[in-house]
Amino acid sequence: MTVNFSPGPSQLYFTTEDHTRAAFRQGIPSLSHRSKMFEQFYQHTQEQLRALLSIPTSHHIFFTASATEIWERIVQNLVAEKSTHFVNGAFSEKFFKAGLQLNKDAKSITAEDGDGFSEPIKVDGEIIGITHNETSTGVSLPLDFIYGMKELNPSALVCVDAVSSIPFVDFDYNKIDSVYFSVQKGFGMPPGLGVWIVNEKCIAKSEQLLAKGHSIGTYHSLPSYLANGKKNQTPETPNSVAIYVLGKIAEDMNRRGINAIRKETLYKSTILYQALQSHEKINAFVGKKEYQSSTVVIADCGEHTNSVIHHLNNKGIDPGEGYGKHKNYQLRFANFPAHSKEQFEQLVDSLNSF
Ligand SMILES: *Cc1c(COP(=O)(O)O)cnc(C)c1O
Repeated sequence: MTVNFSPGPSQLYFTTEDHTRAAFRQGIPSLSHRSKMFEQFYQHTQEQLRALLSIPTSHHIFFTASATEIWERIVQNLVAEKSTHFVNGAFSEKFFKAGLQLNKDAKSITAEDGDGFSEPIKVDGEIIGITHNETSTGVSLPLDFIYGMKELNPSALVCVDAVSSIPFVDFDYNKIDSVYFSVQKGFGMPPGLGVWIVNEKCIAKSEQLLAKGHSIGTYHSLPSYLANGKKNQTPETPNSVAIYVLGKIAEDMNRRGINAIRKETLYKSTILYQALQSHEKINAFVGKKEYQSSTVVIADCGEHTNSVIHHLNNKGIDPGEGYGKHKNYQLRFANFPAHSKEQFEQLVDSLNSF
């Protein structure tokens, strides 16, 4: 069987298929989202996610269709006029553009692909968009930078894209207003579900915008999420199979232990970066150690890119292509909980034999 190292949709988690079959056997695809059974697994998923990621009760968890949707919801619910975005790759740029498309005064602070941000600064925006792990460039920003931005800009809402770093990243949620991700990356699930974590300040801001006559969207506005969430329900007919499966996978990960998962992730990224560092033909794309992502490792393969793909494919390894303009000379390797130690050791051996 081929191992999928693409960052997303990525390799399925070991138990995804079994839980999905179980969902079908229990009739979840045809179940009313106003039923008791729905409310029970909605609550179960909430509890397992809270336990896994140490999300405090000050923060709510809501379900969307994708992380892309959350960009739009953040702008609608939390921005009257101004937003500020740290842009260092394709995903952070898409969030910035969502602000512009929704007619906000969106400003970007940019860094070159492969570079990041480490010095907190004062900015002018109701929200600050930060991409913790830029999946397009393999850059992960230091947590001290994110917390420092909140400290320097206490009245702004700090919104963190952690799509490709959760569940590995260990946030202090008290220092962040909103965090979001989707499930086809670190949770090893089929695409089609986003998770939006917000604190009370975000709820208050959306209510304030609504009271002032702003449009904050319709069914997926924060007040609508909150009213339904209190009943363990969703505003619309949601992807209930995915909500169920996410809870089951989070439960499996809780049983395995998040510390063990994080330690294993570090082991796997360390051996891969070591292999790249000592390789004669392939290098790590992100040069600065402080920015090297543990969950998305990007290899600069230059003119050898196609032959590396061929070599790896022959060993049952499917690397992720470089993102966008980097496609012809980079390969991306996701390091998620679904990727075993043995698979990473095999990946390293295969790169070494190239
Ligand atoms: C994949 C990804 C997204 C988009 O997620 P969707 O589920 O496709 O909307 C956003 N941000 C980052 C960093 C990503 O890796």
